[in-house]
Amino acid sequence: MKISLNPQAKDEATRNALVAEGGFGKYYTDHMVVCEWEDKKGWAEPEIKAYGPITLDPATAVFHYGQEIFEGMKAYRQPDGGIALFRPEANAQRFINSAKRLALPEMSIELFLETVNEFVKIDGGWVPNQVGESLYIRPFMIATEVGLGVRPTNKATYMLIATPAGAYFDPSKPVSVWISTEYVRAAQGGTGEAKCGGNYAASLVAQKAAAKEGCDQVVWLDAKERKWVEEMGGMNLYFVKGSGKDATVITPKLTGTLLPGVTRDSILSVAKDLGYKTDEVMLSVDDWRDGIASGEITEIFACGTAAVVSPIGQAKSAMGTWVTGDGQPGKITMEIRNHLLGIQHGKIEDKHGWNKRVL
Ligand SMILES: *Cc1c(COP(=O)(O)O)cnc(C)c1O
Repeated sequence: MKISLNPQAKDEATRNALVAEGGFGKYYTDHMVVCEWEDKKGWAEPEIKAYGPITLDPATAVFHYGQEIFEGMKAYRQPDGGIALFRPEANAQRFINSAKRLALPEMSIELFLETVNEFVKIDGGWVPNQVGESLYIRPFMIATEVGLGVRPTNKATYMLIATPAGAYFDPSKPVSVWISTEYVRAAQGGTGEAKCGGNYAASLVAQKAAAKEGCDQVVWLDAKERKWVEEMGGMNLYFVKGSGKDATVITPKLTGTLLPGVTRDSILSVAKDLGYKTDEVMLSVDDWRDGIASGEITEIFACGTAAVVSPIGQAKSAMGTWVTGDGQPGKITMEIRNHLLGIQHGKIEDKHGWNKRVL
């Protein structure tokens, strides 16, 4: 790892003031990682250097054909002042899977983890202190071959940047969702399982449609039947059936078109640890409507690294509007959220060995 420290790195007081502002994606840390790949040479030595703009030829492949992948992961402050990453190998493995699908070079788990670890050692001062706050880390890779010919790139650039993430959870504001039957996010054989920018580019028009319906987010159905519930925006979905210790916590099954979330996977374990039954199911829009009508579905939430757990209140579709709960986040939703955050911040025993200490 080459290290060129930023001579203009923020002093501690300035950094702390920026971190204390909270929010998400407003400020970036002092450094970034860059690592170049070439077909004949493989990966070069990664470099940590000052955060800043990069220069690319206008004919660079990524601008034209969207060959790009990314990851989203977090570093959490621990009770002793140290820092831990949450399940970083899961992100490293998914980055490999995404690279395969987008015909980008695979980066070994070891190299990926080295870049994240070394980066956090240098910019760890940007990790906030409070529970619910974290440093959001964004590794990504772009195709950098220059030329307008359509082909898998023979050059790529891996980069890693990071932004402090405040505790933006507002329990009094459950998310409202628009169930889209007009647009789809992913079809069998497509890129739904890969974390790539293209999936997001194609989703924005549906996000706009949701906003027009007065909803915060879009819920995606399967492409073929427009019937099976898949995801919400860039997050996975969970439904709670029943209440108390007899409740079952269910999530749509991974069919090849859903993004396999690390948070989704972690919640399957956390819910079991808390004594709930769990299941991965095919859940239709009709099941959703009927479950709300009968009272069987008691809570709904979305999950992902950025927001961890977000309660869902109202769902709107061409078939009508269904409201879950009383406008307050569900009990089990909050129990799962607090338990997961407790593990991430080292306040609850990490019996699955998910936290990886960096400092
Ligand atoms: C990243 C992402 C998720 C959540 O995955 P996590 O690993 O839990 O952050 C869910 N859906 C989509 C479409 C995503 O891009």
